[in-house]
Amino acid sequence: MRAVIFDAIGATPEVREVPEPVAPDGGVVVRVHATGLCRSDWHAWAGHDEIALPHVPGHELAGVVSAVGAGVAKWRVGDRVTVPFVCGCGECEWCRQGDAQVCPDQEQPGFTHWGSFAEYVALHAADTNLVAVPETVSFEAAASLGCRFATAYRGLVGRAQVAAGEWVTVIGAGGVGLSAVMIAKALGARVVAVDRNPEALAVAKQLGADHVVVSGGEDGAEVATAVHDLTIGGSHVAVDAVGSEETCSDAIHSLRRRGRHVQIGLLPPVDGHPRVPMARVIAWELDLLGSHGMAAVDYPGMLALIEQGTLRPQDLIERVVGLDEAAAMLPTFDRATVAGMTMIHPVTTN
Ligand SMILES: [Zn+2]
Ligand SMILES: [Zn+2]
Repeated sequence: MRAVIFDAIGATPEVREVPEPVAPDGGVVVRVHATGLCRSDWHAWAGHDEIALPHVPGHELAGVVSAVGAGVAKWRVGDRVTVPFVCGCGECEWCRQGDAQVCPDQEQPGFTHWGSFAEYVALHAADTNLVAVPETVSFEAAASLGCRFATAYRGLVGRAQVAAGEWVTVIGAGGVGLSAVMIAKALGARVVAVDRNPEALAVAKQLGADHVVVSGGEDGAEVATAVHDLTIGGSHVAVDAVGSEETCSDAIHSLRRRGRHVQIGLLPPVDGHPRVPMARVIAWELDLLGSHGMAAVDYPGMLALIEQGTLRPQDLIERVVGLDEAAAMLPTFDRATVAGMTMIHPVTTN
């Protein structure tokens, strides 16, 4: 099969013929019809995750089951499926209580094994992790859920429990941030979107953001001050959808007293651990909430809103590319100023 592959950390990704995966016991192989290109793929390529080399990235996918391993009860060849980027083991106490997103024995395609920038991908513990994709939901829309959209959904619904009328500040208007804007508006919240890129903020406006704030640079606003002015006292919920010391701090400082901060962007350590403004967290009694994807068992509520048209993840897709273009884009993805999601079609004739 054809796949995007790199042989060393930071090496130029290539498209090559590689062996097709075999369905593991309890798992399946999926023919990939659509797979998203995400900043997490760049983190793996840049050496921020423990991966075995050579490596095939890709963790946001949808497709059709092409092979079924021993012991799988619920899935058949030909089923349309997607999967959360965190695949739980299905057996531990967290998986049994429906929290496979924090399973200590989790597998992640594109990180713990070869991922979906390929014609085929192996997925583990299929009965725990696969999600049926309704005929009315496209492969592209389904692939966009696996990481960024589902993480934003769980961050706002499951973790921060956003209520109608609350202010939600979203820092970063990339894939996860724009997902958060769309979901917050669907929940009836009022939204402030913050980004360095005015083009990305224009998309956030189209998705319903009530206010946008351009950050950084000489003309950029001081984010927390701008948010406090717009929301008269700070937002109830803030989301760091970027993952940097600055964006995390801006998000926390933009909260009102007793606000809830949701950290979604991966936060690389500075001197061993990220620096977080804990003095404000204590004095204002802020809640810090992590969000790490969403278990397959929680997908039906989100999929119902997509089928109704209340949530339209397909509107977040800005461009569709092939494997060759994806290989070229991967090394620059940390600096990409493009708005919206990039979707890959690994198979030219779907
Ligand atoms: Zn588990
Ligand atoms: Zn992702």
